[in-house]
Amino acid sequence: MGTVGRTGEADVVVVGAGLAGLRCARALTDAGLDVVVLEASDRVGGRVRTDRVDGFLVDQGFQLLNPAYPAVRRWVDLDALALQPFPAGVLARTEEGAELLADPLRELGLTGRTARSVAVRPREVAALLRWARPLVGRERGLADRVTPRRGDLTLRDSLDRAGVHGLLRRVLERFLAGVLLDASGATADAFALLLARSFAAGTPALPAGGMAALPAQLAAGLGDRVRLRYPVEGIDTSGARPVLLSAAGATRARHVVVATDGATAHRLVGTPTPAPRGVVTQWWAVDDLAGRRDARAPGVLAVDARPRPSGPAVNAAIVSAAAPSYAPEGRHLVQASALIGSGAAPPSEGRMRRHAADLLGLVDTGWQELARHELPQALPAQPVPFAARRPVVVRPGLVVCGDHRDTASLQGALVSGQRAALAVLTSPDRTTAARGFEQPGERA
Ligand SMILES: Cc1cc2nc3c(=O)[nH]c(=O)nc-3n(C[C@H](O)[C@H](O)[C@H](O)COP(=O)(O)OP(=O)(O)OC[C@H]3O[C@@H](n4cnc5c(N)ncnc54)[C@H](O)[C@@H]3O)c2cc1C
Repeated sequence: MGTVGRTGEADVVVVGAGLAGLRCARALTDAGLDVVVLEASDRVGGRVRTDRVDGFLVDQGFQLLNPAYPAVRRWVDLDALALQPFPAGVLARTEEGAELLADPLRELGLTGRTARSVAVRPREVAALLRWARPLVGRERGLADRVTPRRGDLTLRDSLDRAGVHGLLRRVLERFLAGVLLDASGATADAFALLLARSFAAGTPALPAGGMAALPAQLAAGLGDRVRLRYPVEGIDTSGARPVLLSAAGATRARHVVVATDGATAHRLVGTPTPAPRGVVTQWWAVDDLAGRRDARAPGVLAVDARPRPSGPAVNAAIVSAAAPSYAPEGRHLVQASALIGSGAAPPSEGRMRRHAADLLGLVDTGWQELARHELPQALPAQPVPFAARRPVVVRPGLVVCGDHRDTASLQGALVSGQRAALAVLTSPDRTTAARGFEQPGERA
Protein backbone atom coordinates (compact mmCIF):
# COMPACT_ATOMS: atom_id res chain seq x y z
CA MET A 1 0.00 0.00 0.00
CA GLY A 2 1.08 3.56 -0.56
CA THR A 3 3.47 2.73 -3.36
CA VAL A 4 2.69 4.19 -6.73
CA GLY A 5 4.53 3.39 -9.89
CA ARG A 6 4.26 1.08 -12.82
CA THR A 7 1.11 -1.00 -12.21
CA GLY A 8 1.20 0.08 -8.54
CA GLU A 9 -1.47 -0.24 -5.84
CA ALA A 10 -2.73 2.41 -3.44
CA ASP A 11 -5.54 2.70 -0.91
CA VAL A 12 -6.51 6.29 -1.70
CA VAL A 13 -4.98 8.29 -4.55
CA VAL A 14 -5.64 12.03 -4.63
CA VAL A 15 -5.05 13.62 -8.04
CA GLY A 16 -3.89 17.24 -7.60
CA ALA A 17 -2.08 19.01 -4.75
CA GLY A 18 -4.00 22.30 -4.73
CA LEU A 19 -5.72 23.36 -1.51
CA ALA A 20 -8.61 20.93 -2.04
CA GLY A 21 -6.36 17.93 -2.65
CA LEU A 22 -4.05 18.81 0.23
CA ARG A 23 -6.91 19.28 2.69
CA CYS A 24 -8.46 15.99 1.56
CA ALA A 25 -5.16 14.13 1.89
CA ARG A 26 -4.51 15.60 5.34
CA ALA A 27 -7.97 14.67 6.59
CA LEU A 28 -7.64 11.10 5.29
CA THR A 29 -4.12 10.72 6.68
CA ASP A 30 -5.27 12.02 10.07
CA ALA A 31 -8.05 9.39 9.95
CA GLY A 32 -5.40 6.70 9.52
CA LEU A 33 -5.68 5.98 5.80
CA ASP A 34 -2.75 5.37 3.49
CA VAL A 35 -2.85 8.21 0.94
CA VAL A 36 -0.77 9.15 -2.10
CA VAL A 37 -1.10 12.53 -3.85
CA LEU A 38 -0.17 12.74 -7.54
CA GLU A 39 0.56 16.31 -8.69
CA ALA A 40 1.25 17.26 -12.31
CA SER A 41 3.40 20.34 -11.66
CA ASP A 42 6.72 20.80 -9.87
CA ARG A 43 5.22 22.10 -6.62
CA VAL A 44 2.18 21.95 -4.39
CA GLY A 45 -0.46 24.70 -4.15
CA GLY A 46 -2.09 24.73 -7.60
CA ARG A 47 -3.40 28.23 -8.23
CA VAL A 48 -1.79 29.45 -4.99
CA ARG A 49 1.81 29.97 -5.97
CA THR A 50 4.62 32.43 -5.19
CA ASP A 51 7.85 33.11 -7.07
CA ARG A 52 10.84 35.13 -5.94
CA VAL A 53 11.78 37.69 -8.62
CA ASP A 54 14.70 40.09 -8.06
CA GLY A 55 14.19 39.86 -4.31
CA PHE A 56 10.40 40.46 -4.51
CA LEU A 57 7.71 37.94 -3.59
CA VAL A 58 5.34 37.67 -6.56
CA ASP A 59 2.17 35.61 -6.19
CA GLN A 60 0.57 34.08 -9.25
CA GLY A 61 -2.16 36.67 -9.65
CA PHE A 62 -3.10 39.05 -6.85
CA GLN A 63 -4.88 37.13 -4.15
CA LEU A 64 -5.46 37.62 -0.46
CA LEU A 65 -6.04 35.27 2.44
CA ASN A 66 -9.05 36.11 4.56
CA PRO A 67 -8.39 34.78 8.07
CA ALA A 68 -12.13 34.91 8.80
CA TYR A 69 -12.90 32.07 6.40
CA PRO A 70 -14.26 29.32 8.70
CA ALA A 71 -12.19 26.63 6.93
CA VAL A 72 -9.03 28.69 7.31
CA ARG A 73 -9.71 29.25 11.01
CA ARG A 74 -10.22 25.54 11.48
CA TRP A 75 -7.45 23.96 9.43
CA VAL A 76 -4.71 26.57 9.08
CA ASP A 77 -2.19 27.69 11.70
CA LEU A 78 -2.56 31.41 11.04
CA ASP A 79 0.06 32.47 13.59
CA ALA A 80 2.68 30.49 11.70
CA LEU A 81 1.86 32.43 8.50
CA ALA A 82 2.67 35.82 10.12
CA LEU A 83 -0.12 37.60 8.25
CA GLN A 84 0.32 41.17 7.01
CA PRO A 85 -3.16 42.74 6.88
CA PHE A 86 -4.43 45.07 4.17
CA PRO A 87 -6.29 48.16 5.37
CA ALA A 88 -10.06 47.77 5.38
CA GLY A 89 -10.83 50.41 2.82
CA VAL A 90 -10.96 51.37 -0.83
CA LEU A 91 -9.27 54.27 -2.55
CA ALA A 92 -11.90 55.36 -5.04
CA ARG A 93 -10.71 57.36 -8.06
CA THR A 94 -13.52 59.80 -8.84
CA GLU A 95 -13.82 62.65 -11.33
CA GLU A 96 -13.04 65.07 -8.51
CA GLY A 97 -9.89 63.25 -7.38
CA ALA A 98 -9.59 60.34 -4.95
CA GLU A 99 -11.75 59.42 -1.96
CA LEU A 100 -10.62 57.07 0.76
CA LEU A 101 -13.67 55.04 1.73
CA ALA A 102 -13.96 52.58 4.57
CA ASP A 103 -14.42 49.13 3.07
CA PRO A 104 -18.03 49.17 1.82
CA LEU A 105 -18.41 45.57 2.95
CA ARG A 106 -16.56 45.72 6.25
CA GLU A 107 -18.07 48.92 7.50
CA LEU A 108 -21.49 48.89 5.98
CA GLY A 109 -22.40 52.18 7.59
CA LEU A 110 -19.40 53.77 5.91
CA THR A 111 -18.53 55.69 9.03
CA GLY A 112 -15.30 57.20 10.27
CA ARG A 113 -13.01 58.14 7.44
CA THR A 114 -15.94 58.19 5.03
CA ALA A 115 -18.04 60.59 7.04
CA ARG A 116 -17.99 63.15 4.28
CA SER A 117 -19.16 60.68 1.64
CA VAL A 118 -21.87 59.39 3.95
CA ALA A 119 -23.11 62.85 4.80
CA VAL A 120 -23.60 63.75 1.16
CA ARG A 121 -25.00 60.35 0.19
CA PRO A 122 -27.56 59.25 2.82
CA ARG A 123 -29.81 57.59 0.21
CA GLU A 124 -26.95 55.63 -1.32
CA VAL A 125 -25.93 54.39 2.12
CA ALA A 126 -29.50 53.40 3.03
CA ALA A 127 -29.81 51.43 -0.22
CA LEU A 128 -26.48 49.69 0.38
CA LEU A 129 -27.66 48.64 3.82
CA ARG A 130 -30.89 47.28 2.28
CA TRP A 131 -28.81 45.11 -0.07
CA ALA A 132 -26.63 43.89 2.81
CA ARG A 133 -29.49 43.26 5.26
CA PRO A 134 -28.98 39.44 5.41
CA LEU A 135 -25.49 40.08 6.83
CA VAL A 136 -26.94 41.61 9.96
CA GLY A 137 -27.73 39.31 12.86
CA ARG A 138 -26.76 35.67 13.24
CA GLU A 139 -23.27 34.95 12.01
CA ARG A 140 -23.88 31.35 10.98
CA GLY A 141 -26.26 29.87 8.44
CA LEU A 142 -26.06 32.77 6.01
CA ALA A 143 -26.02 30.51 2.93
CA ASP A 144 -29.14 28.73 4.13
CA ARG A 145 -30.87 32.06 4.74
CA VAL A 146 -30.02 33.81 1.47
CA THR A 147 -30.01 30.92 -0.99
CA PRO A 148 -33.78 30.26 -1.00
CA ARG A 149 -34.67 33.97 -1.16
CA ARG A 150 -31.90 35.35 -3.34
CA GLY A 151 -30.33 32.25 -4.92
CA ASP A 152 -31.92 33.01 -8.31
CA LEU A 153 -30.98 36.67 -8.28
CA THR A 154 -27.90 38.08 -10.00
CA LEU A 155 -25.82 40.69 -8.20
CA ARG A 156 -26.89 43.34 -10.73
CA ASP A 157 -30.62 42.63 -10.23
CA SER A 158 -30.26 42.53 -6.47
CA LEU A 159 -28.49 45.91 -6.36
CA ASP A 160 -31.17 47.35 -8.68
CA ARG A 161 -33.90 45.97 -6.45
CA ALA A 162 -32.32 47.50 -3.33
CA GLY A 163 -31.96 50.84 -5.18
CA VAL A 164 -28.16 50.97 -4.82
CA HIS A 165 -26.79 53.59 -7.20
CA GLY A 166 -24.29 56.42 -7.57
CA LEU A 167 -20.71 56.44 -6.35
CA LEU A 168 -21.21 53.76 -3.71
CA ARG A 169 -22.65 51.35 -6.28
CA ARG A 170 -19.73 51.95 -8.61
CA VAL A 171 -17.25 51.40 -5.77
CA LEU A 172 -19.00 48.22 -4.65
CA GLU A 173 -19.30 46.84 -8.21
CA ARG A 174 -15.70 47.60 -9.14
CA PHE A 175 -14.40 46.22 -5.85
CA LEU A 176 -16.42 43.02 -6.28
CA ALA A 177 -15.43 42.73 -9.96
CA GLY A 178 -11.85 42.25 -8.81
CA VAL A 179 -12.88 39.56 -6.33
CA LEU A 180 -15.46 37.70 -8.44
CA LEU A 181 -13.52 38.34 -11.69
CA ASP A 182 -16.83 39.36 -13.19
CA ALA A 183 -17.81 42.92 -14.10
CA SER A 184 -21.07 41.94 -15.81
CA GLY A 185 -23.13 41.64 -12.63
CA ALA A 186 -24.21 38.12 -13.66
CA THR A 187 -22.66 36.44 -10.59
CA ALA A 188 -25.12 35.02 -8.07
CA ASP A 189 -26.05 37.66 -5.51
CA ALA A 190 -25.97 35.00 -2.77
CA PHE A 191 -22.28 34.34 -3.45
CA ALA A 192 -21.48 38.06 -3.37
CA LEU A 193 -23.19 38.23 0.02
CA LEU A 194 -21.21 35.28 1.34
CA LEU A 195 -18.01 37.04 0.34
CA ALA A 196 -19.28 40.28 1.84
CA ARG A 197 -19.78 38.48 5.13
CA SER A 198 -16.17 37.25 5.04
CA PHE A 199 -14.89 40.77 4.35
CA ALA A 200 -17.01 42.11 7.19
CA ALA A 201 -15.66 39.48 9.58
CA GLY A 202 -11.96 39.57 8.77
CA THR A 203 -9.12 41.59 7.32
CA PRO A 204 -7.63 40.02 4.17
CA ALA A 205 -3.87 39.65 4.43
CA LEU A 206 -0.73 38.21 2.89
CA PRO A 207 1.53 35.70 4.66
CA ALA A 208 5.09 36.90 5.32
CA GLY A 209 6.42 34.13 3.09
CA GLY A 210 3.98 34.76 0.24
CA MET A 211 0.66 33.03 -0.51
CA ALA A 212 2.52 29.78 -1.22
CA ALA A 213 3.19 29.49 2.53
CA LEU A 214 -0.44 28.40 2.88
CA PRO A 215 -0.27 25.22 0.75
CA ALA A 216 3.26 24.58 2.04
CA GLN A 217 1.85 24.41 5.55
CA LEU A 218 -0.97 22.06 4.48
CA ALA A 219 1.52 19.80 2.70
CA ALA A 220 4.03 19.73 5.55
CA GLY A 221 2.41 16.78 7.31
CA LEU A 222 2.17 14.72 4.12
CA GLY A 223 5.90 14.23 3.55
CA ASP A 224 6.77 11.97 0.64
CA ARG A 225 3.14 10.99 0.10
CA VAL A 226 3.08 13.84 -2.43
CA ARG A 227 4.58 12.92 -5.82
CA LEU A 228 5.38 15.92 -7.99
CA ARG A 229 5.65 16.00 -11.82
CA TYR A 230 3.14 13.15 -11.94
CA PRO A 231 0.35 14.07 -14.36
CA VAL A 232 -2.57 11.65 -14.48
CA GLU A 233 -3.63 11.27 -18.09
CA GLY A 234 -6.80 9.25 -17.68
CA ILE A 235 -8.90 7.20 -15.28
CA ASP A 236 -10.24 3.82 -16.37
CA THR A 237 -13.50 3.20 -14.53
CA SER A 238 -14.56 0.08 -16.44
CA GLY A 239 -13.45 -2.36 -13.71
CA ALA A 240 -14.48 -2.83 -10.09
CA ARG A 241 -11.83 -0.31 -8.98
CA PRO A 242 -10.68 2.83 -10.79
CA VAL A 243 -7.28 2.64 -12.49
CA LEU A 244 -5.18 5.78 -12.93
CA LEU A 245 -3.22 6.07 -16.14
CA SER A 246 -0.02 8.08 -16.37
CA ALA A 247 3.31 8.01 -18.18
CA ALA A 248 4.75 6.17 -15.15
CA GLY A 249 2.27 3.32 -15.53
CA ALA A 250 -1.14 2.26 -14.23
CA THR A 251 -2.16 2.59 -10.60
CA ARG A 252 -5.04 0.63 -9.12
CA ALA A 253 -6.68 2.33 -6.16
CA ARG A 254 -9.50 1.51 -3.79
CA HIS A 255 -10.55 5.15 -3.85
CA VAL A 256 -9.61 7.94 -6.25
CA VAL A 257 -10.18 11.60 -5.39
CA VAL A 258 -9.89 13.91 -8.39
CA ALA A 259 -8.82 17.25 -6.88
CA THR A 260 -7.90 19.10 -10.07
CA ASP A 261 -9.30 22.31 -11.54
CA GLY A 262 -12.82 22.02 -12.99
CA ALA A 263 -11.80 21.67 -16.65
CA THR A 264 -9.40 18.78 -15.92
CA ALA A 265 -11.97 17.08 -13.67
CA HIS A 266 -14.43 17.33 -16.55
CA ARG A 267 -11.91 15.70 -18.89
CA LEU A 268 -10.98 12.94 -16.43
CA VAL A 269 -14.37 12.01 -14.97
CA GLY A 270 -16.99 14.00 -16.91
CA THR A 271 -18.28 16.21 -14.07
CA PRO A 272 -19.94 19.36 -15.42
CA THR A 273 -17.84 22.42 -14.74
CA PRO A 274 -18.85 26.09 -14.49
CA ALA A 275 -17.43 28.51 -17.08
CA PRO A 276 -14.05 29.98 -16.04
CA ARG A 277 -13.39 33.61 -15.12
CA GLY A 278 -10.03 35.08 -16.13
CA VAL A 279 -7.67 37.78 -14.94
CA VAL A 280 -4.36 39.30 -15.93
CA THR A 281 -2.12 40.61 -13.14
CA GLN A 282 0.85 42.84 -13.76
CA TRP A 283 3.62 43.24 -11.18
CA TRP A 284 6.18 46.06 -11.04
CA ALA A 285 9.09 47.16 -8.90
CA VAL A 286 8.76 50.89 -8.18
CA ASP A 287 11.37 52.96 -6.37
CA ASP A 288 9.70 56.38 -6.23
CA LEU A 289 6.27 56.69 -4.59
CA ALA A 290 6.16 60.50 -4.68
CA GLY A 291 2.57 61.78 -4.85
CA ARG A 292 0.95 58.49 -3.91
CA ARG A 293 -2.70 58.68 -2.94
CA ASP A 294 -2.75 55.92 -0.35
CA ALA A 295 -0.37 57.61 2.11
CA ARG A 296 -3.26 57.85 4.64
CA ALA A 297 -3.86 54.06 4.49
CA PRO A 298 -0.79 52.43 2.93
CA GLY A 299 -1.56 49.46 0.71
CA VAL A 300 -5.27 50.17 0.40
CA LEU A 301 -6.82 48.78 -2.80
CA ALA A 302 -7.56 51.43 -5.45
CA VAL A 303 -10.51 51.17 -7.84
CA ASP A 304 -11.72 53.39 -10.65
CA ALA A 305 -15.11 54.72 -9.51
CA ARG A 306 -15.64 57.10 -12.40
CA PRO A 307 -18.69 56.44 -14.57
CA ARG A 308 -16.24 55.83 -17.43
CA PRO A 309 -13.00 54.29 -16.11
CA SER A 310 -9.86 55.56 -17.82
CA GLY A 311 -8.27 52.12 -18.21
CA PRO A 312 -8.66 48.35 -17.92
CA ALA A 313 -7.57 47.71 -14.30
CA VAL A 314 -10.24 46.54 -11.86
CA ASN A 315 -7.88 47.27 -9.00
CA ALA A 316 -4.34 48.36 -8.20
CA ALA A 317 -2.33 48.42 -4.99
CA ILE A 318 1.08 49.16 -3.56
CA VAL A 319 1.26 45.64 -2.19
CA SER A 320 4.45 46.06 -0.18
CA ALA A 321 2.96 49.04 1.69
CA ALA A 322 0.64 46.54 3.41
CA ALA A 323 2.95 43.53 3.15
CA PRO A 324 6.55 44.77 3.61
CA SER A 325 8.02 41.25 3.27
CA TYR A 326 7.04 41.31 -0.42
CA ALA A 327 9.75 43.85 -1.38
CA PRO A 328 13.41 44.40 -0.56
CA GLU A 329 14.19 47.27 1.83
CA GLY A 330 13.62 50.66 0.19
CA ARG A 331 11.79 49.30 -2.87
CA HIS A 332 8.05 48.84 -3.53
CA LEU A 333 5.88 46.19 -5.18
CA VAL A 334 2.91 47.44 -7.21
CA GLN A 335 0.20 45.30 -8.82
CA ALA A 336 -2.72 45.94 -11.13
CA SER A 337 -5.29 43.38 -12.28
CA ALA A 338 -7.70 43.43 -15.24
CA LEU A 339 -10.38 40.98 -16.31
CA ILE A 340 -9.83 38.83 -19.38
CA GLY A 341 -12.17 36.63 -21.37
CA SER A 342 -14.80 36.86 -24.10
CA GLY A 343 -12.13 36.56 -26.79
CA ALA A 344 -10.77 40.09 -26.27
CA ALA A 345 -6.96 40.47 -26.19
CA PRO A 346 -5.65 41.07 -22.63
CA PRO A 347 -4.61 44.70 -22.06
CA SER A 348 -0.95 45.57 -22.68
CA GLU A 349 1.56 46.23 -19.92
CA GLY A 350 1.63 49.92 -20.91
CA ARG A 351 -2.14 50.39 -20.54
CA MET A 352 -2.13 48.59 -17.22
CA ARG A 353 0.80 50.66 -15.96
CA ARG A 354 -0.73 54.00 -16.93
CA HIS A 355 -4.05 53.10 -15.32
CA ALA A 356 -2.40 51.79 -12.13
CA ALA A 357 -0.34 54.99 -11.83
CA ASP A 358 -3.49 57.08 -12.31
CA LEU A 359 -5.40 55.15 -9.63
CA LEU A 360 -2.54 55.28 -7.12
CA GLY A 361 -1.45 58.85 -7.87
CA LEU A 362 2.02 57.85 -9.05
CA VAL A 363 4.19 58.84 -11.98
CA ASP A 364 4.55 55.79 -14.22
CA THR A 365 8.14 56.29 -15.30
CA GLY A 366 10.94 54.04 -14.06
CA TRP A 367 8.66 51.12 -13.27
CA GLN A 368 10.40 47.76 -13.68
CA GLU A 369 8.14 44.97 -14.91
CA LEU A 370 8.66 41.92 -12.66
CA ALA A 371 5.99 39.53 -13.93
CA ARG A 372 2.78 39.29 -15.90
CA HIS A 373 0.30 36.50 -15.17
CA GLU A 374 -2.42 35.81 -17.71
CA LEU A 375 -4.84 33.40 -16.01
CA PRO A 376 -7.86 32.71 -18.22
CA GLN A 377 -9.10 29.99 -15.82
CA ALA A 378 -8.49 31.74 -12.52
CA LEU A 379 -11.90 31.04 -10.95
CA PRO A 380 -15.03 29.06 -11.70
CA ALA A 381 -18.03 31.34 -12.35
CA GLN A 382 -20.77 31.38 -9.71
CA PRO A 383 -23.88 31.88 -11.81
CA VAL A 384 -27.53 31.69 -10.85
CA PRO A 385 -29.15 29.54 -9.62
CA PHE A 386 -26.59 29.57 -6.85
CA ALA A 387 -25.34 26.18 -5.66
CA ALA A 388 -22.99 26.52 -2.70
CA ARG A 389 -22.32 22.78 -2.80
CA ARG A 390 -22.32 20.40 -5.74
CA PRO A 391 -22.11 16.62 -5.39
CA VAL A 392 -18.63 15.16 -4.89
CA VAL A 393 -19.32 11.43 -5.35
CA VAL A 394 -19.14 10.40 -9.02
CA ARG A 395 -19.61 6.68 -8.28
CA PRO A 396 -18.45 4.36 -5.51
CA GLY A 397 -14.68 4.67 -5.24
CA LEU A 398 -14.52 7.83 -7.36
CA VAL A 399 -14.82 11.25 -5.72
CA VAL A 400 -14.17 14.75 -7.07
CA CYS A 401 -13.33 17.98 -5.22
CA GLY A 402 -12.03 21.50 -5.86
CA ASP A 403 -13.42 25.03 -5.78
CA HIS A 404 -15.70 24.11 -8.73
CA ARG A 405 -17.62 21.81 -6.32
CA ASP A 406 -18.09 24.52 -3.68
CA THR A 407 -17.57 28.25 -3.72
CA ALA A 408 -14.90 29.85 -5.91
CA SER A 409 -12.47 30.65 -3.10
CA LEU A 410 -9.80 29.30 -0.80
CA GLN A 411 -12.61 28.53 1.63
CA GLY A 412 -14.54 26.61 -1.03
CA ALA A 413 -11.47 24.59 -2.05
CA LEU A 414 -10.70 23.61 1.56
CA VAL A 415 -14.31 22.67 2.33
CA SER A 416 -14.61 20.60 -0.83
CA GLY A 417 -11.45 18.70 0.15
CA GLN A 418 -12.95 17.94 3.55
CA ARG A 419 -16.23 16.83 1.93
CA ALA A 420 -14.32 14.53 -0.41
CA ALA A 421 -12.48 12.98 2.54
CA LEU A 422 -15.78 12.45 4.31
CA ALA A 423 -17.18 10.76 1.18
CA VAL A 424 -14.25 8.34 1.14
CA LEU A 425 -14.58 7.62 4.84
CA THR A 426 -18.33 7.02 4.65
CA SER A 427 -18.21 4.82 1.55
CA PRO A 428 -19.73 1.38 2.24
CA ASP A 429 -16.45 -0.32 3.18
CA ARG A 430 -15.31 2.49 5.49
CA THR A 431 -18.20 3.65 7.66
CA THR A 432 -16.37 3.04 10.95
CA ALA A 433 -13.41 5.21 9.97
CA ALA A 434 -15.73 8.23 9.70
CA ARG A 435 -16.76 8.17 13.34
CA GLY A 436 -15.82 11.46 14.96
CA PHE A 437 -14.75 12.93 11.64
CA GLU A 438 -15.00 16.71 11.47
CA GLN A 439 -17.90 17.87 9.30
CA PRO A 440 -17.16 20.50 6.63
CA GLY A 441 -19.27 23.09 8.49
CA GLU A 442 -20.26 26.56 7.39
CA ARG A 443 -20.07 27.58 3.72
CA ALA A 444 -17.91 30.30 2.16
C1 LIG B 1 -5.54 35.22 -9.64
C2 LIG B 1 -6.36 34.55 -8.60
C3 LIG B 1 -6.82 35.29 -7.53
C4 LIG B 1 -7.55 34.67 -6.53
N1 LIG B 1 -7.91 35.41 -5.44
C5 LIG B 1 -8.50 34.78 -4.41
C6 LIG B 1 -8.74 35.48 -3.19
O1 LIG B 1 -8.33 36.65 -3.03
N2 LIG B 1 -9.40 34.84 -2.20
C7 LIG B 1 -9.82 33.54 -2.32
O2 LIG B 1 -10.43 33.01 -1.40
N3 LIG B 1 -9.58 32.85 -3.47
C8 LIG B 1 -8.93 33.43 -4.49
N4 LIG B 1 -8.65 32.72 -5.62
C9 LIG B 1 -9.18 31.36 -5.76
C10 LIG B 1 -8.36 30.27 -5.08
O3 LIG B 1 -6.98 30.45 -5.33
C11 LIG B 1 -8.83 28.93 -5.65
O4 LIG B 1 -10.23 28.83 -5.45
C12 LIG B 1 -8.17 27.73 -4.99
O5 LIG B 1 -6.77 27.87 -4.89
C13 LIG B 1 -8.50 26.48 -5.80
O6 LIG B 1 -7.91 25.34 -5.23
P1 LIG B 1 -8.22 23.90 -5.83
O7 LIG B 1 -7.46 22.93 -5.01
O8 LIG B 1 -9.68 23.72 -5.96
O9 LIG B 1 -7.68 23.92 -7.34
P2 LIG B 1 -6.21 24.17 -7.93
O10 LIG B 1 -5.48 25.15 -7.13
O11 LIG B 1 -6.41 24.45 -9.37
O12 LIG B 1 -5.45 22.76 -7.76
C14 LIG B 1 -5.57 21.72 -8.67
C15 LIG B 1 -4.25 20.96 -8.72
O13 LIG B 1 -4.40 19.83 -9.59
C16 LIG B 1 -3.23 19.69 -10.39
N5 LIG B 1 -3.57 18.96 -11.60
C17 LIG B 1 -4.33 19.37 -12.64
N6 LIG B 1 -4.42 18.40 -13.57
C18 LIG B 1 -3.74 17.33 -13.08
C19 LIG B 1 -3.48 16.02 -13.57
N7 LIG B 1 -3.97 15.60 -14.74
N8 LIG B 1 -2.73 15.16 -12.82
C20 LIG B 1 -2.22 15.56 -11.61
N9 LIG B 1 -2.44 16.81 -11.12
C21 LIG B 1 -3.20 17.68 -11.82
C22 LIG B 1 -2.81 21.14 -10.65
O14 LIG B 1 -1.45 21.22 -11.05
C23 LIG B 1 -3.09 21.77 -9.30
O15 LIG B 1 -1.98 21.69 -8.43
C24 LIG B 1 -7.90 33.30 -6.64
C25 LIG B 1 -7.44 32.55 -7.73
C26 LIG B 1 -6.66 33.17 -8.68
C27 LIG B 1 -6.10 32.32 -9.80
